[in-house]
Amino acid sequence: MDVSELLDSLNDKQREAVAAPAQNMLVLAGAGSGKTRVLVHRIAWLMRVENVSPHSILAVTFTNKAAAEMRARVEQAVGSNIHGMWIGTFHGLAHRLLRMHFQEAKLPQSFQVLDSDDQLRLLKRVTRSMNLDEKKWPAKQAMWYINGKKDEGLRPKHIDAQLDPTEETFKKIYQIYQDTCDRAGLVDFAELLLRAHELWLNNPVLLEHYQRRFSRILVDEFQDTNAIQYAWLNLLGREHGNVMIVGDDDQSIYGWRGAKIENIQRFLKDFDGAETIRLEQNYRSTGNILNAANALISNNNNRLGKDLWTKDSDGEAISVYTAFNDLDESRFVSSRIKQWLDEGNSLDDVAILYRSNAQSRLLEEALLQAQLPYRIYGGLRFFERQEIKDALAYLRLMNNRNDDASFERIINTPTRGIGNQTLSLVRDAARSHGSTLWEACIRMLDGEQLSARPANAIKTFIELINQLEDDTLNLNLDQQANHVIQHSGLKAMYQAEKGERAAARIENLNELVTACQTFEVDPEVEDEMTPLTAFLTHASLEAGESQADEYEAAVQLMTLHSAKGLEFPLVFMVGMEEGMFPSQQSGDDITRLEEERRLCYVGMTRAMEKLYLCHAESRRLYGQEKYHRPSRFLREIPDQYLDEIRMKNQAVKPKTTGRFANTISLDTFADTGFKLGQQVRHSKFGEGTVLNFEGSGAQSRVQVNFIEHGSKWLVVAYANLEAI
Ligand code: ATP
Ligand code: MG
Repeated sequence: MDVSELLDSLNDKQREAVAAPAQNMLVLAGAGSGKTRVLVHRIAWLMRVENVSPHSILAVTFTNKAAAEMRARVEQAVGSNIHGMWIGTFHGLAHRLLRMHFQEAKLPQSFQVLDSDDQLRLLKRVTRSMNLDEKKWPAKQAMWYINGKKDEGLRPKHIDAQLDPTEETFKKIYQIYQDTCDRAGLVDFAELLLRAHELWLNNPVLLEHYQRRFSRILVDEFQDTNAIQYAWLNLLGREHGNVMIVGDDDQSIYGWRGAKIENIQRFLKDFDGAETIRLEQNYRSTGNILNAANALISNNNNRLGKDLWTKDSDGEAISVYTAFNDLDESRFVSSRIKQWLDEGNSLDDVAILYRSNAQSRLLEEALLQAQLPYRIYGGLRFFERQEIKDALAYLRLMNNRNDDASFERIINTPTRGIGNQTLSLVRDAARSHGSTLWEACIRMLDGEQLSARPANAIKTFIELINQLEDDTLNLNLDQQANHVIQHSGLKAMYQAEKGERAAARIENLNELVTACQTFEVDPEVEDEMTPLTAFLTHASLEAGESQADEYEAAVQLMTLHSAKGLEFPLVFMVGMEEGMFPSQQSGDDITRLEEERRLCYVGMTRAMEKLYLCHAESRRLYGQEKYHRPSRFLREIPDQYLDEIRMKNQAVKPKTTGRFANTISLDTFADTGFKLGQQVRHSKFGEGTVLNFEGSGAQSRVQVNFIEHGSKWLVVAYANLEAI
């Protein structure tokens, strides 16, 4: 791309932002208005026109996927090597700093990143060791507490908890948990940010170095920065005054994780002379989609206010599908995707968005049945699968003997006769010496503090880990992984499990070797860590963002949260029901409700050409059939943009051809033999009234409102309904 092209493909406002003189700047604009494009072009402009070295540029985005995409786009726009530029997420960048300056950060060189699963496990151990009632002090709650405090930049010593005994306890858990992590060289996600911030606070010379180095800072999705991220940015960029942030207050969706929309206004106050540029033209969506999203978000209060318009035509209306249950919903989605494919479109263009990960299972099933390849972002990702975590734990422990979380995970996996009793002895010993579990084992073996059998078992384990390390010292990463899978006993253990599940696990383990094979250490960090350390970090940080076959065209499934910043020609939003979306927890809390509405806005504005909003009248949740009203968000969209598809309407109108065409009356459904409004009896649900019909032949279903059990859809062929 030559320089004139850099500007030609922009509108006036975008151009103003891209070519602005060095200054602090806020680009505030709605979805799809080209904020990310401006950011990318600005970087290219800085390099091409202002001759800024890539070395001086720091760009922050929200997800690893976005960071990778940004790197590719910048490379394309610059047309030259961007070696030395730092592009990443706050977490990724903080991690990199800590690796480079582990000593100043008071971390061991081999420190490991703890993912949220490991964090939870560790916290369980901590609360147990404190003799706390797990019901009263759930580890999950402690995790929220600790991460929340860290996001605010607070250490236990900063927390004044004298007034509240509950908080006093959480504070204690925080303290003990942190001591354990520090001893073992473990760093959780929130700790990455806090440590990196403290690193600079405690090392002014280092800070000054980076302040000088990163003379240009750019941040995408700024509305979702939390307090510690803001503080970090403030330290780094406030002095030199060349910070460009882009964001949209209407898309702030991480309030529940400490993100603060107010940071936008704070930026304007804290960063001298910050100019605001607003973009108002949307290039992504059709008129109907955009106007519907605008109408929805106008129900929120205290917005910074933006107008968004498009030159694009109205396009198709948004389809609202009322499914009679969740199964029907997922089948509807897969059938429409099939149709889309049959019309000659690509599966890559399709996204299914849901509020929570658990909703993916049925959709996955329907897609599998329809033989439509799909990929999941989030949920049970590759690196979160049991067997993968087991194998990684071996590699982690080989890499760092003090990694207690990994130690706990594999000490008796596969089983080697180390029972809970022995383990608690080890834990006690570790606690009383303030040491890690590994060290405690060594000490206990030396001091002959264990009886013969457990002592032998532990000795074997320790030798195994040492041996694995020795044997793999000079191997490539994939050979290392393969060796560990073969010789740790994991493979044999999973092979012995039998069945499809076991086969899948073995496949996954093989896939891990492949992942190691194709893993490329970022040349930027090659000097700072071994390939194994880099890979283990990648596993924790990315938790398998690329799943299954990366190159195959596939439908993408993800939560609304992870869809941020992305766009797709065809989008399905499912589970648009009260209690699902907005979620149950948001209840009548206006702040949370508004965040849910912003999430809905984010979801809708991902769609370029066609949007489906689906809700189900009943849904199985936690083993129970639940009946939800349609989401209020559906009501908040003016009718003029919507087209309702109701299965019921089609079903109630009987076909006018076919076997019984001449014999049925309008209120009888041919295949069922029942009439609307008819009283029926069911052996389990008792008496009820027929409300509706659907399907035909063996598939025909009937909806009955039972006096005691409420409304249910039943397959006529199996229901054995009795007319009364
Ligand atoms: P979001 O708020 O969802 O992150 P955004 O404001 O970052 O959206 P982009 O993703 O940068 O928006 O742009 C949306 C789409 O519009 C992209 O496909 C982009 O290439 C296109 N686009 C942006 N600006 C222009 C322009 N001036 N001319 C043509 N297309 C544009
Ligand atoms: Mg964007």
